[in-house]
Amino acid sequence: MTTFGFNVAESQIFSRGATYRLMPGLEHLRFNSIDMLENDIIVSTIEGDVVQSRDAYIEHFLEYRQRLPNFFEYVGPKYTPRTLWRHGLYVLFIGWQSLANSYITNDIVTQQALLMNEVGRRQEFIRLRDELNLPGNQLGHLVAHEGISSQPPDTILPLDQPYCTCGSFQMQLHHVEQFRDVCGSDFQPMCKHIRYMRKFDKLRNVSSELAARQADERLSKTMAYLFFPPTDQTSSGTLRALYIDEQPSRPIEHWSVYNRTIHHEDVWEFFFQSIKHGYMLRHASFFSSIEKFLKTFNPSDEVSA
Ligand SMILES: [Zn+2]
Repeated sequence: MTTFGFNVAESQIFSRGATYRLMPGLEHLRFNSIDMLENDIIVSTIEGDVVQSRDAYIEHFLEYRQRLPNFFEYVGPKYTPRTLWRHGLYVLFIGWQSLANSYITNDIVTQQALLMNEVGRRQEFIRLRDELNLPGNQLGHLVAHEGISSQPPDTILPLDQPYCTCGSFQMQLHHVEQFRDVCGSDFQPMCKHIRYMRKFDKLRNVSSELAARQADERLSKTMAYLFFPPTDQTSSGTLRALYIDEQPSRPIEHWSVYNRTIHHEDVWEFFFQSIKHGYMLRHASFFSSIEKFLKTFNPSDEVSA
């Protein structure tokens, strides 16, 4: 497949992947080229041309780059959330693999989890950034969703605006003028990691508000959860939970089984709804008997709502 005369920004926006996402069902066509003709994008295939408006591609790109990842897509070994590093930057580890291996299979710590623990302690920005992006073993990213607050030594990073070390963000940053030509003068680099961090902040905020309210009202309601990571790239991770409307230190007989399996794409919604209904979220490892009980669930069991 060829693209004629597209610069970096254009080849990102008017791409084959975007074409598939914008017009599902074209996967069987054999692509020749993607071209621009005034306000239209012409996708030439051996089976014939497909036309889509330039604006539709641009709108899709702006949305797609900030899609919200699943909650457990970004957690470190043993469910550690993002961790503040310095200069307003956080380390955001990629979750699936460390979870799948280190949590479910009898807590055996994997090479990847060990590597994450080691790399996370790096003191120099460049070294940390590069080791998080090891070829073939990507561990995570450095993200400053509220902007970099001060300059790390030996670097010149843009201050006071969101920043991420991922490939998508860096490409937008390095070719920002090209992206502005296509998307408009107010274009700013953005990525799904920044979106994730902002959503995480919201969850943390409502959780803190609930904790304060529970303390005031001397109430205690808890939702304890355990996540079963997907076993491969194509399957869905699932979450199971138990809840209690009194002190969580009560024996397991006082807890109730939440009678639904929550699929990983619904975890954010489940967490926000639990808090809305007054339940503090706790990872099951807070309560050993609860964790033991939840581990007896088969991740592939389906319990209908
Ligand atoms: Zn990013």
